[in-house]
Amino acid sequence: MDLGLKGRWALVCAASKGLGRGCAEALAGEGVNVVITARGEGELLATAAALKSAHPQVEVLAVVGDIATPEGRAAALAACPQVDILVNNAGGPQPGDFRDWDRAQWIAALDANMLAPIELIKATVDGMAARGFGRIVNITSGAVKAPIDVLGLSNGARSGLTGFVAGVARQPRLAGANVTINNLLPGAFDTDRLRKTLAAGAAKAGLGVDEVAAKRRAAIPAQRFGTAAEFGAICAMLCSAQAGYLTGQNILLDGGNYPGTF
Ligand code: NAD
Repeated sequence: MDLGLKGRWALVCAASKGLGRGCAEALAGEGVNVVITARGEGELLATAAALKSAHPQVEVLAVVGDIATPEGRAAALAACPQVDILVNNAGGPQPGDFRDWDRAQWIAALDANMLAPIELIKATVDGMAARGFGRIVNITSGAVKAPIDVLGLSNGARSGLTGFVAGVARQPRLAGANVTINNLLPGAFDTDRLRKTLAAGAAKAGLGVDEVAAKRRAAIPAQRFGTAAEFGAICAMLCSAQAGYLTGQNILLDGGNYPGTF
């Protein structure tokens, strides 16, 4: 199926690896020009080169910077001739006990996982509406639907973003102008972040990483972790020309892990 995206421009934040990269790859595969960002230059440039070589027909621009800062966002926006598609993403906060977190840690989590996406939505959404096409996908977490105690910073910041999006996506001046805003909620995906979390969990429990990973996989109905390519494909689908009537939704991608009917 042709997703009707050829020639569009996408800003994909935090995309040198993992889920952000998966989204950039899937969009480039649909003929979308991409601006990708990350803090580390080496990995970002290597990813940009790989994307360009796999999809020579599209433009691939790399912008080094921290998307949680005003400067990082300004640089990313300046590099993108026009943002038709915005994929909001940033690293997730560290796990821990809320008794140990001070105001600075909360503000950092809010900056990265709530306020940065809101600022980028603010900067792009009215231009999208004026042009009659816009797709925004926020990478959040399954923890928004089923909170994980030790990820309190993530639960809190991402729930704030989710509440904001639920309201703004339903503005008639956006939804009525073919601008959609949705959240993609990853369960367990095989990325560096998951591998680090598994390693930390194994060290804490005094177990081997393979053992901990096998237990985690066995607890998921799909019996495996998701891949960044699968995640990217769903992101591209949400960005498709055909998905204009799908907005304000939270889409869980977790191999059936969430046990509820809805
Ligand atoms: P990852 O560590 O594999 O990749 C993160 C990417 O973001 C890297 O390219 C990194 O350079 C970039 N990055 C991080 N902070 C940034 C910042 N402030 N500015 C610019 N770039 C930044 O992580 P991932 O697994 O792809 O996770 C992506 C998001 O999804 C995270 O917020 C994570 O918490 C969330 N998530 C992941 C999973 C999972 O299983 N992988 C599950 C739930 C939620």
